[in-house]
Amino acid sequence: MQNKYNTKPKEQILEFLKNHKNKRFTVNEMYESIRLENNNINLSTIYRNINSLIEEGVLLKHQGNDSKCATYQYIENEDCLAHFHFECIKCGRVSHLGAKETNDFLKMIKRTMFFEVEPQNTYIRGICNNCKNVFINF
Ligand SMILES: [Zn+2]
Ligand SMILES: [Zn+2]
Repeated sequence: MQNKYNTKPKEQILEFLKNHKNKRFTVNEMYESIRLENNNINLSTIYRNINSLIEEGVLLKHQGNDSKCATYQYIENEDCLAHFHFECIKCGRVSHLGAKETNDFLKMIKRTMFFEVEPQNTYIRGICNNCKNVFINF
């Protein structure tokens, strides 16, 4: 008989991330959500599995500007390591910038600023179209 407790923690973490593809999470946020499904899971198990998912290239780690807490995003394909992500400060939704637009932007910054931006470490934050429309209608 299969029950939730037979599911490996790694599969639970993956399932959680796949269900929330367009957001990023701290370890604690993942822990709190997964614990609702499996109260046997502990924080160190989550950490261990997260590290192995990063090594497998399934999870993108973002250290953050203040290094206070890292966030993690599920990688749908390898492109996520090479393009920019936009994150809405209202709803938290993450969108992916296309490869061409990312390259154009990188080139422009390099040419004008002599600065090499690391797309995999960059979240451009602002307000998404949905949230902007809500605001206007309000
Ligand atoms: Zn992406
Ligand atoms: Zn939004």
